[in-house]
Amino acid sequence: MSDYVVMEDKLDATEVKIHKVSCGHYQNNLKNPTETTLWHGPYDLDHAETTAEMLSKQYTKGWKLAECCN
Ligand SMILES: [Zn+2]
Repeated sequence: MSDYVVMEDKLDATEVKIHKVSCGHYQNNLKNPTETTLWHGPYDLDHAETTAEMLSKQYTKGWKLAECCN
């Protein structure tokens, strides 16, 4: 099941975060995209974790499962 999306903050202001497709943060971004975040997916959880880990290598804060979706 592809229930997860990965958020990349281009300003490195926060961790690369995994959210659920149903999360309000993701749904808001679909309606009002911001210029500072990129969303990847949807993926299944394994693929989301692999993607988050890979993306986080460009940044300094690491990655995690977002609190709102944990
Ligand atoms: Zn979330």
